[in-house]
Amino acid sequence: MSSYNPQRTRNLFSAVRGKPFKLSRTKIQDFLDCPRCFYLDRKCGTGQPPGFPFTLNTAVDTLLKKEFDEYRAAREPHPLMVKHEVNAIPFAHPDLDEWRMNLKGIQVLHEPTGFIITGAIDDLWINPAEELIVVDYKATSTSKEITLEEEYRKSYKNQMEVYQWLLRQKGFNVSNTGYFVYVNGDTTKDLFNECLEFETLLFSYEGNDSWVESTLFRIAKCLESDEFPEPGTSCDFCKYRIAIRKHLGDRE
Ligand code: SF4
Repeated sequence: MSSYNPQRTRNLFSAVRGKPFKLSRTKIQDFLDCPRCFYLDRKCGTGQPPGFPFTLNTAVDTLLKKEFDEYRAAREPHPLMVKHEVNAIPFAHPDLDEWRMNLKGIQVLHEPTGFIITGAIDDLWINPAEELIVVDYKATSTSKEITLEEEYRKSYKNQMEVYQWLLRQKGFNVSNTGYFVYVNGDTTKDLFNECLEFETLLFSYEGNDSWVESTLFRIAKCLESDEFPEPGTSCDFCKYRIAIRKHLGDRE
């Protein structure tokens, strides 16, 4: 049976007025995608039904973390870093495991809005200038060329910039350069044979977190308002909802 609750009473902005309110980097992206659905979710308690869990991606993330942890313990660069001439090693910190946990992550109180901003990173590297480098793992399977330019990958860039912002709030010296470790499942083999092979790619990205703080103020204004914000402009859920309403009319 589905565990989806369309009228949530927990984690509502209205319920914690005056107290710190947790806002994950995913919810910041939800606001950027569509302030109306964000408002319905965080203020009214009706979020969109969850999608299917990406368990294969999670498995790849877990194995990549274990692999990079071996080089972290040895204080050596991973061969991928050597291959791409990244002058850095995996960063070791006593809180790293907590920063990588989905339900914890890096947490920072943004005092002007009272939001506790959270984000769970995949990895951190450190360069000789003692700057932290944010690293995000991505898994996919495509025969198309992978680039960071496709529209939906804007959210990946936002994600990295929120992580860079969070670490700076914690007082770390953070490089604007971040990396996406991209693994692409190879479907050109003749047989599965209980083995999916991946090609590993590395993309660098120059982040700019200057939008984060102003967005937090926009989110606070949105949540404090009694008006429903405008919906996003291109959303399949809304097109579906409008089409359904046309079919059903008053019978809903
Ligand atoms: S466009 Fe409509 S369904 Fe889509 S996210 Fe916004 S309010 Fe929700």
